[in-house]
Amino acid sequence: MENPSRIPELFGSLVFNDRVMKAKLPKDVYKSLKKTIEEDAPLEIDVANVVANAMKEWALENGATHYTHWFQPMTGITAEKHDSFIEPQGDSVVMELSGKSLVKGETDASSFPSGGLRATFEARGYTAWDPTSYAFIKEKTLCIPTVFCSYGGQVLDKKAPLLRSMEAVSTQAMRVLRLFGHTNVAGVRTTVGAEQEYFLVDKEMYDARDDLRLCGRTLFGAKPPKGLNPADHYFGAIKPRVKAYMEDLNDELWKLGITSKTEHNEAAPSQHELAPIFATTNIANDHNQLIMELMKKVATKHGLVCLLHEKPFEGTNGSGKHNNFSISTKKGKNLLSPGDSPADNAQFLIFLSAVIKAVDEYSDLLRISVATAANDHRLGAAEAPPAIVSIFLGSELTEILDCIEAEKPYEGKEAQVMKIGASVLPDFPMDNTDRNRTSPFAFTGNKFEFRMLGSALNISEPNVVLNTAVAEALKQIADILEAADDFDTAVHDIVKRVYSNHKKVIFNGDGYSDEWQAEAARRGLPNFKTVPEAIPHLKDEKNIRLFTSHKIYTEEEVVSRAEIMLDNYCKTVSHEAYIMSDMVKRQILPAVQNYIAELSNNMLNKKALGITALSYEEDILRQLSENSDKLYKAVLDLDKAANKKLTGNREKDAFHYRDKVCSLMKKVREYADLLETITADEYWPFPTYKDLLYGVN
Ligand code: ADP
Ligand code: MG
Repeated sequence: MENPSRIPELFGSLVFNDRVMKAKLPKDVYKSLKKTIEEDAPLEIDVANVVANAMKEWALENGATHYTHWFQPMTGITAEKHDSFIEPQGDSVVMELSGKSLVKGETDASSFPSGGLRATFEARGYTAWDPTSYAFIKEKTLCIPTVFCSYGGQVLDKKAPLLRSMEAVSTQAMRVLRLFGHTNVAGVRTTVGAEQEYFLVDKEMYDARDDLRLCGRTLFGAKPPKGLNPADHYFGAIKPRVKAYMEDLNDELWKLGITSKTEHNEAAPSQHELAPIFATTNIANDHNQLIMELMKKVATKHGLVCLLHEKPFEGTNGSGKHNNFSISTKKGKNLLSPGDSPADNAQFLIFLSAVIKAVDEYSDLLRISVATAANDHRLGAAEAPPAIVSIFLGSELTEILDCIEAEKPYEGKEAQVMKIGASVLPDFPMDNTDRNRTSPFAFTGNKFEFRMLGSALNISEPNVVLNTAVAEALKQIADILEAADDFDTAVHDIVKRVYSNHKKVIFNGDGYSDEWQAEAARRGLPNFKTVPEAIPHLKDEKNIRLFTSHKIYTEEEVVSRAEIMLDNYCKTVSHEAYIMSDMVKRQILPAVQNYIAELSNNMLNKKALGITALSYEEDILRQLSENSDKLYKAVLDLDKAANKKLTGNREKDAFHYRDKVCSLMKKVREYADLLETITADEYWPFPTYKDLLYGVN
């Protein structure tokens, strides 16, 4: 931005937001639309017609020629099908957008994954406007956020279940709030701030690597001797080329009303992070999709490529996405903030208890919600929490709960018996700077930070699980409280009992340590290290019951989602194995052969001149030959495993990919990486880690 004072004017300039609606819509239409947005009131078609027309006029003024229903199918990324505004009228055309086209679109969606939900003969699906997320303009196209369903009514996307789960939280949270005397709350929403990590690499180098281009990650690469997490990078000065990229990216995001706020270097070289200010979950979800899309797009303009893969480079940190989560009233009162009066504290402890109960009872689902082939490389490695879900509360809050459980005084500043509803909670640091970064689910004063998400993940699924599990916990709590004779005693008992029953999920220590693995096993916490172990539990009876009872998914939809996740896993590994084999056979082995040829020619020449070959030359030559042969044999084994006829049972097939294909890929990589360290630089067929990770200046 050349002129920063223009930022406020620029912000949201490509969004059909409240300000624009107010200015462009007749008062009564604006009012009914507002009612739809805020209270889910049905939208009348004549209102939709007027809104559509205003939206089109505004879009034309801002250079758009097309519109699209923008949706998030099960691929996890967004999909769009562009229609132009033109409508023929005699020999000419007029520009039109009808109310009908705004609220509903038809899509032949037979190629989107449905996990068996939709036979190809009934390929049609439809998209329906989500008026709670503002329409916006991207590349001369008016994008209308929508949900995507089949004509049978089954949800085929990431968005519909998210909206349903938000509704479930709202319904149950309102019951609890009413009991605390808040009778005129308009609604409750969950809020999310998704911190996004990413890598930037030079485009030319990227183009020279098939693995990066086609798999999003490197399948080969020896570590440079310096090690891959230089101390001077993390939060260090941002390089000019990266700075220019970030500025450009911010401009694009701000125009779309996305509150990009924080940016800094991350732990690995060439790794960075962007955090927007939190928003209502479905909007945060849309925004995160746009952030990822624009990160990639803007990078190309700077001769860079943005990698969103969870683990693009072995031996250095991978990228995650921190899903900061809270629950708040529609007016913005944060229900996970302790507050400072006894009544506020009691209410906070109930919502806190609901989250603790939810996370413990559905920790398997939370793990599953982040399970992808790519995230398997990252979870439990040196930079990310393990596959075990646990909660960090901090020592003070844990102690307070311990005292509540034991009915004994809390020894804070002064000894105090915690009488919920009557005494004020002792202070505990809101923003403890030494906060635990190894926990997958950390309380950070007024929100929880769920850190298991991989960087490329659509944040919908984990939030669907969080919302629904919290809704279920709140439901059970509300059932008890509504029936209680003595409210304060009942609140006290719930907090005490939930803590007793679920404190096994609370862990304030080092989540990266081996001791925790053993301790978690003793506590009976699930530890699904890989996708094939995790996914089948999606269909556990308790999990199906959770989703069906809150009307998030039908049983059929749950089963189909498990199928899709396993299928994605098998496809990813299979594709990587294929690319790996191809790179070995057509790039690495021929390159090594060329180097061998040069070395042996040198030796022959020396011999002809009567000079004895050095042991260095003989050694290297032998190592190159021997390891080439080992590499070749390993690749043949890999080909065989990867081409094995599958059983069609996706659970079994997924285990085949994990146990056979992935382990052979490891072996192939070991030989290839070893060869890289002894082959002359100029012979190596593609850029190395050193080039890639230190190549952006
Ligand atoms: P960090 O140290 O992890 O970067 P920050 O305090 O900067 O933590 O916040 C990280 C993210 O959490 C930001 O996106 C911020 O907007 C978000 N956040 C803050 N409050 C809430 C909330 N009540 N609900 C959801 N997200 C929140
Ligand atoms: Mg964070």
